[in-house]
Amino acid sequence: MRCLMILEAREKRFNLQKELVSEFNMPLVVFRINYPGSKNNYIVNTIYNLIDLDWDFEHKVEINDKEGLVLLGIVDLDSSELKKRMINIEENHPLGRLLDIDVYDESFKQLSRTDLGYSQRKCLICDDIAHYCIRSEKHSLYEVQQRIYHMFVEYLSSYISDIACESLHEELNLLNKPGLVTPNSNGAHKDMDYMLMLKSIASLRDGFRKIVKGSFTLDLSECKQIGKSMEEEMFKATNGVNTHKGGIFIIGALIISFVKSLKNSIDWQDNIRYLFKDISKELLERKYHSHGKDVYLKYGITGVRGEAEKGFPLIFKNLEGDNLKVLFRIMSDCDDTTILYRHNLDVLEKVKYDASDMLDLDISKIKKLDKEYSLKGISPGGSADLLGGVIFVRRLISLLN
Ligand SMILES: [Zn+2]
Repeated sequence: MRCLMILEAREKRFNLQKELVSEFNMPLVVFRINYPGSKNNYIVNTIYNLIDLDWDFEHKVEINDKEGLVLLGIVDLDSSELKKRMINIEENHPLGRLLDIDVYDESFKQLSRTDLGYSQRKCLICDDIAHYCIRSEKHSLYEVQQRIYHMFVEYLSSYISDIACESLHEELNLLNKPGLVTPNSNGAHKDMDYMLMLKSIASLRDGFRKIVKGSFTLDLSECKQIGKSMEEEMFKATNGVNTHKGGIFIIGALIISFVKSLKNSIDWQDNIRYLFKDISKELLERKYHSHGKDVYLKYGITGVRGEAEKGFPLIFKNLEGDNLKVLFRIMSDCDDTTILYRHNLDVLEKVKYDASDMLDLDISKIKKLDKEYSLKGISPGGSADLLGGVIFVRRLISLLN
């Protein structure tokens, strides 16, 4: 039955391809993920989303059927040139060996690698010609699927770690954040500057990669251990200054919940709520002293842990809009425990009020506020960490279907 459905899907697609070429009278690209066995799974879907398909298509059709996700794109380019570019992706993209990109010319003739003087594609496992291995069933389905899985996890780990660091850079580079470190101000901080923040971000790259990889196989407490070692790396890089503890927690929690929900097809925010439901309780059970615990005991305010328990609503409801405006929206709403720890409830209420007054983004008012906070030592660091989370989620969400 499945075979019949695949054949039907293939025939339907073939007819559509033919129609597209004759309608536009231009070359056609057919893009698929090369995955043996059933293609309707998160690995195929995520690889599809990971490849940047933002080419200059005249027309684009995406199909998702028994054959998995297939993209048909009409491109206004010489067909041989187009085929060469596609071979370049197949050969040089880290996931290129998992892609099947066919090119048809204006007369609907399929171009082959050998026509253009390229060698036939190699097998994923033994480097023989792929075609021979498939025909002779040289490798088991499981063996090939495992090889693809490892390539996928490896690539996804680097990819997510890169966007995590890019997000922290984007937050750091945002100018006019009141009291916070920017490329041209240390804000309210005497112990931090831009260069220190850059060093700190660089120290996190490897840890983020490990968290992504770990989230596929480890449980939450094991993943938290990776977070702990990231904190140690950060303190080493900054000579003991806490630059990104909040950032590690927020982005780490987002990564763990993202990977686990991707793998098990669960809603991302639901999974955050489920995974972190006891995190405030754990804080109280701690034997050792921490800023978060002190603030919780004194004010009953849970800060970023409470945010995680609720599925980070301050992040997910603020994905749209200009970064500075998002920062003020978060500040006006956030019970920032960093402010409570260094100051008191009155200062926190004042920050929330100030932020709601800055939503019109009047730059002279904002600069005045920055001066005031820098003098008074007020730094809305918890809100800045959440802004980093917003930027990260915006980038990561494109991997979901
Ligand atoms: Zn082989």
